[in-house]
Amino acid sequence: MSALVKAQPAVGLWQEQRPVPEIGPDDVLIRIKKTGICGTDIHIWNWDEWAQKTIPVPLVTGHEFAGEIVDMGRNVEGLSIGQRCSGEGHLIGKTSRQSRAGRFHLDPETRGIGVNEQGAFAEYLRLPAFNVVPLPDEISDDIGAILDPLGNAVHTALSFDLLGEDVLITGAGPIGIMAAAVARHAGARHVVITDVNADRLSLAGQVADVTPVNVAEEDLKDVIARLKMKQGFDVGLEMSGNQQALDQMVEALVMGGRIALLGIPPGKSPVDWSRIVFKAITIKGVYGREIFETWYKMIAMLQNGLDVSRVITHRFGKDDYAEAFEIMRSGKSGKIVLDWT
Ligand code: NAD
Ligand code: ZN
Repeated sequence: MSALVKAQPAVGLWQEQRPVPEIGPDDVLIRIKKTGICGTDIHIWNWDEWAQKTIPVPLVTGHEFAGEIVDMGRNVEGLSIGQRCSGEGHLIGKTSRQSRAGRFHLDPETRGIGVNEQGAFAEYLRLPAFNVVPLPDEISDDIGAILDPLGNAVHTALSFDLLGEDVLITGAGPIGIMAAAVARHAGARHVVITDVNADRLSLAGQVADVTPVNVAEEDLKDVIARLKMKQGFDVGLEMSGNQQALDQMVEALVMGGRIALLGIPPGKSPVDWSRIVFKAITIKGVYGREIFETWYKMIAMLQNGLDVSRVITHRFGKDDYAEAFEIMRSGKSGKIVLDWT
């Protein structure tokens, strides 16, 4: 089968022929139809410090996918050949306290497909049947291929009650933009999204009914006044990993505000803790998606009017992957989907 492989410890990915994975008794074999390119894949392409210490070489990369079940191990129940599906790319253990309590997304033994294990940028993927998420007819393969990052957005956005709240999202990358759409769907009052990249803010405005703010040009204090908010935002969703964005968020929040942190800062970052104490702010770190509660909620929302389709700005055939990665690396795109059919 054809696959995108980190074949050498160097910048880039290579399209190679690989054997179709063999499945065990609890696995399914998925024929991949569409995949999404993630920021993580860009780190792997760039072969940065994180990638060098994390990625085994050779590795089939990719973890955002939609496809169809073509083979099943003998223990698999409740699924069938031909079932359209996506799936959770975090492979969990069953022995940790967290897993045994049903908090699967907090299992410290988690391994990621396309990061620690063979991934989804390939014609076929082996996945434990436990990780499969069947796709209802209303959800296209394109959307199926971006459920992983949409799940990050949903997990973060639903960390706190948003109904009637004023929400600030820092970072209008694909995940921030989708979180804005989710916050709107969940009944937030004002949804403001910030970035310093005008293209991304313009895309945010096309995907969701939000107020885009370029913080290189406008102060959030002025936005708070313009929107006639009394003190500031009730909830902050940090989706940039940028220190300045987090500082601005803390300043723009009300006393007793709540922050969910998804963005990953590049290194250790200084935080003004006394400001957080005196503003009595609650902070929650968010990792991955809740397995499988986030999947359940996101599919239900997609079936009931949540529309994030316009966050996909580019589509390429698998053979044109180099061009797709080039555009993704330029920051001039939303989600990019590769077609494997
Ligand atoms: P992205 O890099 O595409 O988007 C980040 C955006 O932040 C960019 O558009 C950038 O211009 C913007 N930004 C930079 N400086 C800013 C500032 N001062 N104020 C506001 N915005 C600023 O990333 P993404 O794919 O949308 O993911 C969002 C974040 O979530 C990333 O940090 C990513 O690493 C992280 N992430 C975390 C998890 C997790 O499990 N915790 C999972 C996936 C992604
Ligand atoms: Zn991803």
